[in-house]
Amino acid sequence: QAAFRSDLARLLELVGTGKESLSFMKKRIRHLAQQWLRAARRLEQKLKGRQRDQKHILVHIGFLTEESGDVFSPRVLKGGPLGEMVQWADILAALFLLGHSLRVTVSLKELQSNLGVPPGRGNCPLTNPLPFDLIYTDYHGLQQMKQHMGLSFKKYRCRVRVIDTFGTEPAYNHEEYATLRGFRTNWGYWNLHPSQFMTMFPHTPDNSFMGFVSEELNKTERQLIKSNKVGSMAVVYGKEASIWKPQGKERFLAILNKYMEIHGTVYYETQRPPEVPAFVKNHGLLPQHEFQQLLRKAKLFIGFGFPYEGPAPLEAIANGCVFLQARFNPPHSSLNHEFFRGKPTSREVSSQHPYAEDFIGKPHVWTVDYNNSEEFEAAIKAIMRTQDFCTTTSPPPPPRTKSPAMQSPPSVLALSPNATHLVWSPSARRDPRAWPPVDSLQVWVSETRHACTETCRRRGLVCEPTFFRFLNKKEVFLQLSIACDSTEYEMNHLYPAVAENVHECYLQKEPLLFSCAGHNSKYRRLCPCRDYREGQVALCRDCV
Ligand code: UDP
Repeated sequence: QAAFRSDLARLLELVGTGKESLSFMKKRIRHLAQQWLRAARRLEQKLKGRQRDQKHILVHIGFLTEESGDVFSPRVLKGGPLGEMVQWADILAALFLLGHSLRVTVSLKELQSNLGVPPGRGNCPLTNPLPFDLIYTDYHGLQQMKQHMGLSFKKYRCRVRVIDTFGTEPAYNHEEYATLRGFRTNWGYWNLHPSQFMTMFPHTPDNSFMGFVSEELNKTERQLIKSNKVGSMAVVYGKEASIWKPQGKERFLAILNKYMEIHGTVYYETQRPPEVPAFVKNHGLLPQHEFQQLLRKAKLFIGFGFPYEGPAPLEAIANGCVFLQARFNPPHSSLNHEFFRGKPTSREVSSQHPYAEDFIGKPHVWTVDYNNSEEFEAAIKAIMRTQDFCTTTSPPPPPRTKSPAMQSPPSVLALSPNATHLVWSPSARRDPRAWPPVDSLQVWVSETRHACTETCRRRGLVCEPTFFRFLNKKEVFLQLSIACDSTEYEMNHLYPAVAENVHECYLQKEPLLFSCAGHNSKYRRLCPCRDYREGQVALCRDCV
C-alpha cells in the first residue's frame, strides 16, 4: 500500500549529485518542501485512509544523460533553460510524497541496470518481467529504452509516460499515418496512446496535462507583497542575452522606460552583455528564490517573444505582476518557425504564452502588437493605472469558465435548434465504464478553420478525446441533420468529419488517430466537447 510521506530527505538522496541540473532540482524541492508537505497532509485527510496501491516507478530523465549530450546541465548557471527541470523536480516530489517507490536515473548505465537486462545485450528480449509498474521519461529516454529493450519495448510501452513539454499530436504519433501523410518528424511516431504524452501546459487534451507547481501565497505574504510593490518597476523575461535581441526592442523598451524602471536578470560573465541597454538595471542570473523575490516587488513582467510557454510568467502573475507579451501575427508554428520545426505538433502559437493569453487574460495578462507603438504605449499606461491588482494576488487563475451553452441532459437525443450541436443520450450515460461520464458530452460541428480544441473552447467547454468513439457513427450525422451522399471509414486524424460542399461524410478507422487537434479547410469536424470544473479542467462538472 502507498502511504503518504512526511519528509523529503530520502527523495533528495535519490536524486543524486554531480550535475548543476540536479542541484537546481534539489534546491527547488527543498525550497517548496513545507508547501508540499502541507498539500500532502491535506490530501491524506481528504482521502480518509483510502487504500492506494504503491507503484514501483522508474523516473529516467533522458535529456540529462551524457549519452543524449546533456546540453542543459552546463547552462543551468548561465541562463539556459530551466523549465524542464522545474517540472521534473515537481513530478519527483509529487510521486514521492504520494508514497510510491521511486528509482531515479540520469545515465544510460543506471537505466540499463534498472531495467534488468545486462549491459551489452541491447537487442535481447528481457528475461525478467519489467520490475516497474510505470516509467516516467522523455523523448531521449524513450529512445534509450527502445534501444536497450529491443523487442520487449513493444510489450511494455504501455507503462511509459513521456514528459513532453510541447506535446505530440495523434497525427504525428501514429507511425504508418505519419509516414504516409507527411507528419513524420524527428520525435513522433511512437504509436503510444496519445494520453501517454504529458505536457507542461494543456495544449491539446489528446495528451495529458502534467503541469508544474506555481507557489501558493498565504494571506500574510499577500499583504506583504502588496505593501512592498513598486508601481513603476518592470522585470524583463529573459535570462540569456540572446533573448534580448528581437527587432524593434530598442523602440518598445524606450517607451517602457518613459514610465518604468526596467530590471533584468541576464546572465553575464564579466560585463554587461551588449544586448542589454544601459538604462536596464541588470541583477545577473538569480537563484530561483531570489528571482521570485524580485517579482514580488515588480508591477510588470515583460516578455520579448521567447522563450515560449515557460513557467516564469505564471510565477510572475502568482507574485502579483501583470504579464505583458507580444501577439504573433501570423502565429508561430512548425511550418514557419525554427524553434517548432520538427516538433510533433501543428499547433499555432498566437503569442509567447498562449496559455496565459487564453486562460488567464486581462487584467493579469496583456497580449499586444509590439510593432504598433501606440498599442504598446496604451497598454503600459493602462497597466500603470491598475491600482489594486496585487490585492487579488493569488496563484494564476485556472482555465477560465465561460458560461457554457449546457442544457440539462434530455431524456432523448436532442438536437439544438441550429443543428450543429447535440447533447448526449441516456443509454450511453448509463455505461458504467465510460469515464468521464457521457452525460457531460456535447457534440459540436467545427468551422473549417477550427480544430476541435478551439471549437470547444469557444463554447466554454473542453474537447474530450475519449468521447470520440461515441460520435464515430453514421447515425450521428443523421442526428445532426448533416446530409451525407456517402459515408466512408478512413484513417484521418480529422475524422469524423464532413466535406460539406460535396456531402461526403467520413468516419475514423483508426482509434489511435482520434484527435482534438488539427483542422483543414475541406472539413467540418464532429467535436466531442464537455464541461469542466473551475480550477480542474480534468474533471467534468458532475463527475465526482
Ligand atoms: N529563473 C531563475 N532565475 C532567473 C530567472 C528565472 O531561477 O534569474 C527561473 C524561474 O523561476 C523559472 C525558471 O527559471 O521557474 C524557468 O523559467 P522560464 O520561463 O524562463 O523557462 P525556460 O526557458 O528556462 O525553460
